[in-house]
Amino acid sequence: MADQIGRLGVRHWALWQLTNRARIGYVLVIDALAVVGAVIALTLIPVPSANLLPFALLTSCALVYVELSRPIERLRMTRRPFIDLNSVWMFGAILLLHPALAALVITVSYLAQWLRVRPGRLYRKAFSASATIVAGYAANTAFAVLSDAKFQDLPRDIASFGLVVGAGLVFLIFKWAVFYFADAIATPGDYALEASAIALGIMLAWALVDWPIVLLLIIGITLVLHRGVLIRQLRDQARTDPKTGLLNSASWSNDAETQLARGENAALLMLDLDNFKSINDRYGHLVGDKHLKGVADVLRSEVRATDMVGRFGGEEFVILLPGASQEDAMAIAERIRRRVEGFAVEGLGMVTVSVGVAAHPDHGTTLEEVMNAADLALLAAKTAGRNRTLLFAAPST
Ligand code: GH3
Ligand code: MG
Ligand code: MG
Repeated sequence: MADQIGRLGVRHWALWQLTNRARIGYVLVIDALAVVGAVIALTLIPVPSANLLPFALLTSCALVYVELSRPIERLRMTRRPFIDLNSVWMFGAILLLHPALAALVITVSYLAQWLRVRPGRLYRKAFSASATIVAGYAANTAFAVLSDAKFQDLPRDIASFGLVVGAGLVFLIFKWAVFYFADAIATPGDYALEASAIALGIMLAWALVDWPIVLLLIIGITLVLHRGVLIRQLRDQARTDPKTGLLNSASWSNDAETQLARGENAALLMLDLDNFKSINDRYGHLVGDKHLKGVADVLRSEVRATDMVGRFGGEEFVILLPGASQEDAMAIAERIRRRVEGFAVEGLGMVTVSVGVAAHPDHGTTLEEVMNAADLALLAAKTAGRNRTLLFAAPST
């Protein structure tokens, strides 16, 4: 921790290492908006003394939650945008507290995460905190425009419900937009989670006004939800190949076997990058990896969501196309081959791919048989000169 604090001097900020100056500017503008907003709120609106108890409770909840979720978070390894359930306390604070106090709850919560859970780049945590604070100002502003009453004094009717849910939506959309322009894209699942956290935040604010002890139940629900998210992430991690994000070989084989066992038509593409060793030899393995990732993205974008794309080995990929005929599969394979041919890693040349195609049940009834057929077709494509697509042809007897 001392080490983390030692790196806080302005000159040492990792932010300055970003190569994209527009990105640095954007991060600083959002940080500045968060601070300026708090100062303006403090000059315009006095902090009500009735806010102090809920402020203390919400800050404690955020800190307790960070501590209780540490054992769960330690298992999590993904580096994707870290959208979490802290919005429960944060949105509760936005609804109930003076904007500057809400900003303080948000800052304390992110600071605690940085110190206790994820000691990553501080400017990133600061940016996440600022994005949340700014989204909170937007929600507060929408709320104030539509209603003269504070959350505490709203009648418990449908119009108030619509107002509070609307403020939640404004918060969600602003947060999404601020992250979107920072290129920190999260998945729809992450936003579903964020939306649930906001919904719990509304209930938390309601509980704090009407029946504060219910807070204990909300902490419990939040922790259980958190654990559920982790399980989903661990399952996804176990199924995917980290380098390309495609299914790994074991999961792909498992899914493909299940699909073929249904007895329906399906086609299989087996792809191997051409002369890939020479790319590694010329540019190094890291550039080779960039090509691999780029090709994986092409494969994923060229097939339907129900098709199964896997990384079979080093630079070999497999795609199962349920319901596809030999002709469909050849057309898809050719389209992929041409897309890969047109794809190049910035200034580091292109890569081509050879594809072998086989069909189920025409060329085999088990996965192993169909894969053997596709492999032979792939070998024939390589022998014929690479960068081409061949359909399995049964040897003539
Ligand atoms: P061919 O056209 O005959 O397929 O030629 P090739 O050089 O691609 O030959 P082959 O498929 O046998 O070689 C695979 C090469 O792929 C060897 C290795 O250097 C490279 N490779 C395998 N896995 C990875 C990886 O994860 N990252 C990188 N950068 N290279 C890999
Ligand atoms: Mg190979
Ligand atoms: Mg190869």
